[in-house]
Amino acid sequence: MPMPNPNELWKIADRLETLFLRKNLKRLVARLSEIEKLKSSKVISTAEANKLKKRVDTAVREFAREFEKESKALQELMYENGWKIAARELGIKGTFQGIPRKALQTINQGLVFMHNYSSDLIRIAENEIAVAIMAGDSYENLIARLMSKIEQNGKRNIATLARDQLGRIMQIAAYDSLSENESDIAYYLWNNPNDERTTDWCRNRLYLNPWTVEDVNHCIENNPVKWKGYEIRDPDIGSTFLHPHIQCRSVLTAVSKSAIKEGSTSKEELKGFGLEGKKFE
Ligand SMILES: [Zn+2]
Repeated sequence: MPMPNPNELWKIADRLETLFLRKNLKRLVARLSEIEKLKSSKVISTAEANKLKKRVDTAVREFAREFEKESKALQELMYENGWKIAARELGIKGTFQGIPRKALQTINQGLVFMHNYSSDLIRIAENEIAVAIMAGDSYENLIARLMSKIEQNGKRNIATLARDQLGRIMQIAAYDSLSENESDIAYYLWNNPNDERTTDWCRNRLYLNPWTVEDVNHCIENNPVKWKGYEIRDPDIGSTFLHPHIQCRSVLTAVSKSAIKEGSTSKEELKGFGLEGKKFE
C-alpha cells in the first residue's frame, strides 16, 4: 500500500475550505512527518514506524472519506489523488466509524481544567489528543507522546492531563451520539469500573441507574451537585454532569426501547446496575 506523501497532503490541507477540516487533517499529516523523523533518527524501529504510519494513513483516508461529503474541494482533490480508489481497495466501509467527529469538535471548543497551563502547552495537548482520537491511539501512546513534548515539572502531571482530557472529550461525544437517537432510548445507564478508584460521586450514579432521558437532559442543563439526595459530582471545581470530577472514567450508555419491549431486560433489573459488578452488554 503506497503511503501518502506528506507534502502532497499539506497542499491539500491548505486548500481545504473549512477551518475545522484543515486543522484536523493538518494534525494527522504532521503526525506522519513526525513518524518519518523518529524513524530516521532511530528513536523507533522501522517496524514500529511502519505500524504507526499505517494507522495514521488509515485515519487520514477515513477522515477524508467522512468529510468529503461536506467539502467539494476535498472531494475533487481526492479524486485527483486516487484516494477514492485506494479507499475502496482498502475496503473502508461506506459508513464511517473511525473518527468521532463530536469528539474533535469538542477539542476545537477548547480543553478545560487546564487553567494552570500555558497556551503553548494547551495547543500541544489539543493536537496530540485529536490525533490520538483520529488514529485510535491508546492512552499509553498519547501519554508517552505528550511526555516527550512537554517538560514535566511539579505542577504538571502529564498522565493525569491526558487521561482527564481524553476522558472528558469521549464522555461528551458518547452523550452527543446517544442523544441523536433519543427517541429510541428507554433509559440511560452510567457505567464505570466500580473499583477502589471509583469515587462516591460515580458510585452514586450507578446506584441511581437507570436514568430516564428527561433526568439526564435536565442534569446536563442544570448541572446539579445532588440528585435525588445523592451527590453526583465534585462540588468544588468546574465539574459537569458528564465529567463529574478530574480523571473520571464513567461513561454514559443507553438501553433501547426495543430491548425493554422484547422483555430481554426490565427496569427492575436495571436498578443500581453496575454496583454488584454487573455489566451491561
Ligand atoms: Zn468518575
